[in-house]
Amino acid sequence: MARERHPLTRRRALLGGAAATTLIATGTGTGTAVAADTRDVDVAVIGGGLAGLTAARDLSAGGRTVLVLEARDRVGGRVVNLPLPNGGVSEGGGEFIGPTQDRIKALADDLGVATFATYNTGKNVLYKDGRRTPYATDGLLGSVPPIDAAGLANAAAVQALLDDMAKKVPVDAPWTAEKAEEWDRQTFETWLRANAVIPSARFLFDVACTSIFSAQPRELSLLYVLFYIASAGNESTPGTFERLTETADGAQATRFVGGSQLVPLKLAAKLGADRVRLSAPVRRIARGSDGRYTVTADGVTVTARRVVVAVPPPLAARIDFDPLLPAARDQLSQRLPMGAIGKAIAVYATPFWRADGLNGQVVSDAGVVRSTFDNSPPDGSYGALMGFIEADEMRAYDAASEAEVKAAVLKDYVTYFGAKAASPTGFVLQRWDNEGFSRGGPVAYAPPGVLSRYGAALRQPVGGIHWAGTETSSYWNGYMDGAVRSGERVAREVLAAL
Ligand SMILES: Cc1cc2nc3c(=O)[nH]c(=O)nc-3n(C[C@H](O)[C@H](O)[C@H](O)COP(=O)(O)OP(=O)(O)OC[C@H]3O[C@@H](n4cnc5c(N)ncnc54)[C@H](O)[C@@H]3O)c2cc1C
Repeated sequence: MARERHPLTRRRALLGGAAATTLIATGTGTGTAVAADTRDVDVAVIGGGLAGLTAARDLSAGGRTVLVLEARDRVGGRVVNLPLPNGGVSEGGGEFIGPTQDRIKALADDLGVATFATYNTGKNVLYKDGRRTPYATDGLLGSVPPIDAAGLANAAAVQALLDDMAKKVPVDAPWTAEKAEEWDRQTFETWLRANAVIPSARFLFDVACTSIFSAQPRELSLLYVLFYIASAGNESTPGTFERLTETADGAQATRFVGGSQLVPLKLAAKLGADRVRLSAPVRRIARGSDGRYTVTADGVTVTARRVVVAVPPPLAARIDFDPLLPAARDQLSQRLPMGAIGKAIAVYATPFWRADGLNGQVVSDAGVVRSTFDNSPPDGSYGALMGFIEADEMRAYDAASEAEVKAAVLKDYVTYFGAKAASPTGFVLQRWDNEGFSRGGPVAYAPPGVLSRYGAALRQPVGGIHWAGTETSSYWNGYMDGAVRSGERVAREVLAAL
């Protein structure tokens, strides 16, 4: 498993320690003295992912004192750069951005992180029923794989229907959709069975579903899927299913030069070490009789007027709240599991598939990796193939050794790209299900019966506790853009309240 470390983050961890304020000795009852820091700020922010860091930036700009408490020894959360053996860098988590993802783009621009187009020249590969078919994507059908005509017609009708239904889901409150009740009592699987009736069409939606959510159709509420489609846009452009799945003009269109983690790293550096505390998992949030909050993290205790919780709901559920959260909020966070996901990146001396006329993208019905991208750097000075390991495929390999995963991944890459894929010069693997402070990814999704019953608690503040994180975003929920939007929204909320 790839180590989640970066030289910059290690240096910042040291800086974070040095910047500690008051050092006090507390007796532990066993006679051992433990050094603990105490801090007093206007707002304590839990989680140093894009959401928490963006919130801290805006709260500071609004004149408030703030401290971000981050559990890991690095910032970025579900966004992490993985150093490669050849000195390059790859991305283990959030990587792509696309049209209408305005807030992450604005943040990156502001921080001076450049972008480049995802490599998308040449043919895609469809691997289905044991047959490999390279196909052009510049025709009328775009990147839609060349399945049979009846399947194509069925898939087009299903996609249009999904987009149409999604238009009826208000992104700020999906639980208020006229058919919320009906759509939230069925899984996406049930709905697909009734609508994607041609097997080849069903295959396309199955692979799209696992690629988007890293969950199987049987696990997702139909209402949640429709909300997610509606959310794939912005205030002026309605979301579409196609924008979620596409590379050209879609959510996979663009990448960051130097890797996506540069965005949170630069944001944290701008905030400065005295506003970002690493290796400080928050264990407890208690409200005192004076209405102030005491946030207890490993190595530091923070008192604050307001608290922003910017961690995914299943992680928030592991924090001890005193007093207990209202049942609606507590039960909500009990019911939003993370998808199961990993990323495998194989590095080669050259992006050899390009010379074979391939763009590095695969859609497959078999193997541990069923979706791939060309993850090479902008200058193509070496080749990198990134494969997603998703949902049931990831679960099957959660407990496997890295060598076992590598063997399975390379077997798939050889099937898709030929014998040259068998001998990478480097290989990195990021398995999010085994990360204690993520517990899966890319997003905490809603099974049936959750949004309609508990959705209203998603952003509802509880006293002085406010909720952020991509899961609370109306637009690009589940994406880096949603995380940034949620940080901006929660900062506005807290600034208005203080
Ligand atoms: C494999 C993968 C691929 C993805 N691909 C894309 C993509 O291509 N494009 C895209 O836009 N998005 C993608 N995403 C999603 C994207 O990464 C997330 O939506 C986004 O990064 C979420 O940011 P966040 O700040 O809301 O949450 P997080 O990044 O999860 O941040 C939460 C932070 O809180 C910390 N934390 C947790 N518990 C505690 C605690 N008790 N105390 C203190 N700190 C705590 C965590 O360590 C973490 O740093 C992907 C995600 C994954 C996993």
